[in-house]
Amino acid sequence: MAYTVTIEEENKEIASRYKDLLKGTYRTLTTADKKEIRKAFELAVEAHSSQRRKTGEPYIYHPIAVAKIVAYEIGLGPKSIVAALLHDVVEDTHYTLEDIEREFGETIGRIVNGLTKISRLNKEQDASIQAENFRKMLLTLNDDVRVILIKIADRLHNMQTMDAMPPHKQLKIASETLYIYAPLAHRLGLYNIKTELEDLGLKYTEPEVFNDILAKITDSKEEQDKYIKEFNKTLKDILNKEGFKYTIKGRSKSIFSIRRKMRAQNVTYDEIYDKFAIRIVYKSDDKQEKFDAWKIYSIVTDHFQPNPTRLRDWISQPKSTGYESLHITVMGPDNHWVEVQIRSERMDEIAEKGYAAHYKYKNADEKETGLDSWLNRLKETLENPDGNAVDFVENFKLNLYTKEIFVFTPNGDIKAIPKGASALDFAFTIHTEVGMKCRGAKVNGKLKPISHVLISGDQVEIITANQQKPNIRWLDFVVTARARSRIKSALKEEQKEIAKEGKEILARKLRSLKLTYNEKTVHELASYLKLKTSFDLFYRIGNGSIENSQLKDFAAQKSNAFISFFKNRIKRTTSTPPNNKEEINQKYDMLVFGQEEEQLEYKLAKCCNPIPGDKVFGFLTINEGIKVHKNDCPNAVGMQAKYAYRIMSAKWIDSTQQDFRVFLHVSGSDKFGLVNQLTKVISSNMHVNIHQLNISGNEGVFDGRITISVKNNKQLTRLVNNIKKIDGIEKVDRIYKQ
Ligand code: MN
Repeated sequence: MAYTVTIEEENKEIASRYKDLLKGTYRTLTTADKKEIRKAFELAVEAHSSQRRKTGEPYIYHPIAVAKIVAYEIGLGPKSIVAALLHDVVEDTHYTLEDIEREFGETIGRIVNGLTKISRLNKEQDASIQAENFRKMLLTLNDDVRVILIKIADRLHNMQTMDAMPPHKQLKIASETLYIYAPLAHRLGLYNIKTELEDLGLKYTEPEVFNDILAKITDSKEEQDKYIKEFNKTLKDILNKEGFKYTIKGRSKSIFSIRRKMRAQNVTYDEIYDKFAIRIVYKSDDKQEKFDAWKIYSIVTDHFQPNPTRLRDWISQPKSTGYESLHITVMGPDNHWVEVQIRSERMDEIAEKGYAAHYKYKNADEKETGLDSWLNRLKETLENPDGNAVDFVENFKLNLYTKEIFVFTPNGDIKAIPKGASALDFAFTIHTEVGMKCRGAKVNGKLKPISHVLISGDQVEIITANQQKPNIRWLDFVVTARARSRIKSALKEEQKEIAKEGKEILARKLRSLKLTYNEKTVHELASYLKLKTSFDLFYRIGNGSIENSQLKDFAAQKSNAFISFFKNRIKRTTSTPPNNKEEINQKYDMLVFGQEEEQLEYKLAKCCNPIPGDKVFGFLTINEGIKVHKNDCPNAVGMQAKYAYRIMSAKWIDSTQQDFRVFLHVSGSDKFGLVNQLTKVISSNMHVNIHQLNISGNEGVFDGRITISVKNNKQLTRLVNNIKKIDGIEKVDRIYKQ
């Protein structure tokens, strides 16, 4: 759809969007606040005036929309609104950070700086450091959590307006969103935004699945409304009699979570029974709030049979994001299990808006402990320079989604740790030193090994010993990112010593094998032994786990290394891809890769077994060339997000319809009229086009390089045979580069 409006209309629209932003924000704005927001708005309008979005719309629509998400959906205050309006100014326009600081002060400057840093990280061309970038991004978390909240709003709006983007960008951005932003939003308690990010992520990574589920949800809407009415009818009288002011809402599970369920349980849409939950939101005051929740609980369970294993009490023990609610699953009307969530208006607001709303309800001196301590822990882990970035992001992600359990210290302090955490994890939660020296634990008064997995309600006392130190097996039974990174860095210290020794030993051994000791040799040896780094190599030499015979083999191999290097590279191929599957769709029988639609050698991935016609992409593996995965392969999102630079677009084509470029090298004796004959032969072959012909003759020797396009190998063979028949031509070779 073309974007056409007049400048007047456009200016009117900008003004109305701005007005809409100010209308009833979540917090009350003072006159000074409004003035500051106006100033930011005007500066942003001016700064972005020459820019347009991919849709053709004025760029300023974007910062206004981000500011609106920040104000309404996250519920942040005026400073954040100002920063959101300015978030792209330094990155995209002639304004500098100093300009912003001068105009809006230090706090705004710091937030905008954080946002600019993140957006520069995202633009980084060398995506191999993407994981490292996530880590850096997360590091800004602790500077000012508003940076990350605004960044999430920015990402949400970009996801909402991604239709005009080219598909490969959509896929990359959507994967990254599913990989890191949705979990982050989840951890920050922004449940609504997380859900929207996930649904949009699915929309662009698996559009068919998304549309299919969406259509089914729309279809069952009426049925759902009827069900809620039925439910309401049963409870109405008694709730009214008890004097409750309440609303009962039905809430469908998100498309993404339905998809997850369908996949995890291997069921169809219709087989998922708890596709929606019923939510009872009641008015209450501070004193009555908790009591009211249980009163409603008892009314509900009087009428509907509860499933005792499905009671979740987040009121007595709120999640560390501040989430409070009472969840039960009951046998509802029509004998359907249905989840019922009971919460006050205050709790509902926190559940919808997360962190910011939580903050609003706390006194200034009563800072929330959960999120703060989580952020602190996160920062410590992030700042640990020894950690491997990819590992870290993986661990971090696990921790983001992991359900929490609550355990007690000997003095009754409560600690939230991820489900599956061991006594050792707990020790590291208390203090790094306690973790390092941890020898065992008393769990509920009984002696347990450090690997003992804790459950909610455990009271845990850590036993330490001075001579204790971490060993590699510890990594098998810790699940928290903090413990992992601490143990790893302690092990590293020890390894460093061994590696230092190993380095000297290696230099000696290489010399005796007549190999030069230098970086190149070390690197080659490491990859020969399938080790990731030279450090790994030194360490293994140091601890004696590499045999002399292995080094000798390497020396022998090295003379052939040059050849095998090229053998291992991906070769262009003219052979048709493996055709061993019966389901093969005859028409789309050939895979091509990249923008150039090249034919390359590949293997079909075993994890998802694509067949011709499937939507697929290529993934460059280290040792096995291109692996072809289906777009909806369970591993796809992780690959797209972490290794976008190794992804090649791929598609199935009809081999009879497609042209392929081929380079030929022709040589022979330089005879009169030979060039003429050559072009005649090529152009008289149907479907063959010449793109380029370079001929050089030297002392009677003819040397030609020809670029042509052909439909398939058969045509090429025919052409090559015809060229060979020309008098004077001696050799025709297919080469791989002109
Ligand atoms: Mn932006």
